[in-house]
Formats: sequence, structure tokens, C-alpha cells
Amino acid sequence: MKDSTANPAVPSVAARPDLSLSGVTKAFATATALQDVDVTLPAGKFSVLLGPSGCGKSTLLRLIAGLDHPTAGTIALGPDRIDHLPPKGRNLAMVFQSYALFPHLDVAENILFGLSVRRVPKAERQERLERVASMMGLSELLARKPAELSGGQQQRVALARAVISQRPVCLMDEPLSNLDAKLRAEMRSEIRALQQRLDLTMVYVTHDQVEAMTMADHIVVMNAGRVEQVATPRDLYAHPASVFVAGFIGTPPMNLLPRAAIPGVAAPAGAATIGIRPEEVAQGGDGLRLRAAVRSVEYLGADQIVTLEVGGARLLLRQSGQALPPGDALSLTLPEPALHFFDDAGHRLPSPSDQSPQPQQELQRETRA
Ligand code: ATP
Repeated sequence: MKDSTANPAVPSVAARPDLSLSGVTKAFATATALQDVDVTLPAGKFSVLLGPSGCGKSTLLRLIAGLDHPTAGTIALGPDRIDHLPPKGRNLAMVFQSYALFPHLDVAENILFGLSVRRVPKAERQERLERVASMMGLSELLARKPAELSGGQQQRVALARAVISQRPVCLMDEPLSNLDAKLRAEMRSEIRALQQRLDLTMVYVTHDQVEAMTMADHIVVMNAGRVEQVATPRDLYAHPASVFVAGFIGTPPMNLLPRAAIPGVAAPAGAATIGIRPEEVAQGGDGLRLRAAVRSVEYLGADQIVTLEVGGARLLLRQSGQALPPGDALSLTLPEPALHFFDDAGHRLPSPSDQSPQPQQELQRETRA
């Protein structure tokens, strides 16, 4: 549940403006990092910038933060352009991959550093420190130095420093990448809960699609300096706009087969690639039937990934059940409502899957909410 009293300095979402980028291009001497980016990051929502290394995510975040300037285009908060303002004038909090804690200051001093610089009165500083430390589970650690903290605790101090600033927009660049898998999962839900509790406008950079899918209200998928698709996690999964997005989202990602590999499929004109998610490949029921050779089986406990070969192409099947011996052939069914079609430029074509939400994904999101 949202507690709008938790962060009194943050105005209600209705009163706060969206962050919008339009026609943003960033050219360096040796590379164009961003090309004509148009995107709106809504107030009070968790937006994730997702894409492979080098796609321009960090550059976009740095432009929003004011650490760098666009070659062309505008950045605005509501109707007001902010791209000419220095970082200090943008009213943003930032958390980066390196926590950048001051080693000689204790936890309390690290958290309070920004407030001291801004000359916030001492009594108010103390009150805010107590509230934020309690919220972040740091009350017992305030006298320790960063070297005496675990990675997760250090990360919480960095988050606390951002939260205590009570700025309505928070930017994070891969803040969890230094943590081990278990801690990362814990911190994911902590950050998400914090964003919801404080109604923050969060802009979060990651290359990890699981992180994006589990945390975001909506995801901005980037590829080679351009925005490929902006959608909710559920929509991104159910209706990827391109071969790139289809192949980036999902564990393992969608099977993408040349049309020639499955000659019996009724595909729309211009379809060059057929997509089907590994968990949608069936071994019975209605749909296109085919035989596939088993190449390998990866047992994961709750389920297994079977690598198959069909028409010279690789096809992954995700299923529960007993391990299959390699070398066997399987009878498969490709259910028509689960198919996605793409043209030879990689763009989505009208597909049977546009009519049907992905039930497993829906369930996941519902239970998480
Ligand atoms: P990563 O996940 O690896 O951090 P990224 O998606 O954040 O990648 P950016 O750091 O934004 O990518 O870089 C985008 C492109 O711009 C890359 O090709 C990078 O080499 C280039 N680039 C970034 N900063 C500079 C710079 N200061 N000078 C020249 N090129 C740069």
C-alpha cells in the first residue's frame, strides 16, 4: 500500500510532471550513442531502460541527470525544458553502480552528506535520518564505516542517501550489478517497494531483462542508440515489436525460426521469421504437428529446457517432467495462437498471438502485484 505521508516533500503524483525526451541525439567524436530518441517517463512510475551493452542506456541517463548534454533534442519535466540546467538545478537523486560512499565518513554522515551541503537545519536532518534509516533497516549501523558493511548494506546506504534527498525523480544506473544473486533479488523487491511507497519517478538502467521484467511499470528497450519498444513487461512479452525484442526478453528467449524451417505454417504475406516461446511448444493438442530431433536436455529442477532441431533450425522447448535421452525424436505441436510473425526487416507482422494474452505471464504479474 502507498503511504503518501512517508515523503512529505514529494508532491502528489497528479501534481507532478512527466519526464519527456524528444528527438534526443548524442554524438561523440567516435560514435553516435543515441539517435533521435522520443520517450516519456511518467511521474510516479518505475521506468526501466533495458538493452545490451553499448546500446546507449547510460548515456541517456547521464543526459537526464545533466552530467552530459545532448547534441540535438530536448529534455523536459512537464512543459519546462531542463536540458540547459546543471545537475544541481534538476531536482533529481542519483544512484550509480559504484556506491561512491566516503570511506572516512560513517553511515550517518554518508547518508546526510547532501543535506549538510544544502544546509538543511540540524533538527530536520536528524529527523529525516532517523526515518530513512529505519525504513532502510540501517538504524543499527549508523556509526559504522563503509568498510565494515556488506555489499548489500553499502547499497542500502547509497539508496538511503538518494531517498533522504526527497527528490521526486530518482535515477539509478545498474545499482545492483556488484551484488550476488540472492542479494540482488532481495534488493530488487526493496527498491521496487520503496519506489511505490514514496511514489518516486524512477528511471532505472539495466542490461538484465529479469531485473527489468520484475521491477518495471514499463520498459524502454534500446538497441544501438534507438528505442525499439516501450511497453509494460506483460505487453513486451506477449507482443514484442521486433525480432530484437523477441530475442532479448524471456529465459530462454523466444524461438525465432526462418519461415522455410516450418513449411506448413499459415503465415501472413511477407513473414520471414516465425517466433514461438519455448513454453508454448507443446507435445499434443491442436496446432501444427512436426517431428524434431532432441539435441540436448538441460535439467533445471522445476522444469527442463530441451534443445531440438527442426528443418535445420534450433528450437527450444521448456517443459516439466522427466529428462529425455539425447538422440530421440519428439512429436511436437506448435499451437497457432502462440505464433509470432516478423518481416525480413525484423518488424512484427499481425500475428495470431496478438489476440491472446500469455496466461503464464499474466499469472506471474498478478501474483507479484
Ligand atoms: P553498458 O551497459 O556497457 O554500460 P550502455 O548501453 O550504457 O552500455 P553507453 O555507455 O551509453 O552504453 O554507450 C553507448 C555508446 O556510446 C557506446 O558505443 C560507447 O562506446 C559510446 N560512448 C559512451 N560514452 C562515450 C564517450 N565519452 N566518448 C565516446 N564514446 C562514448
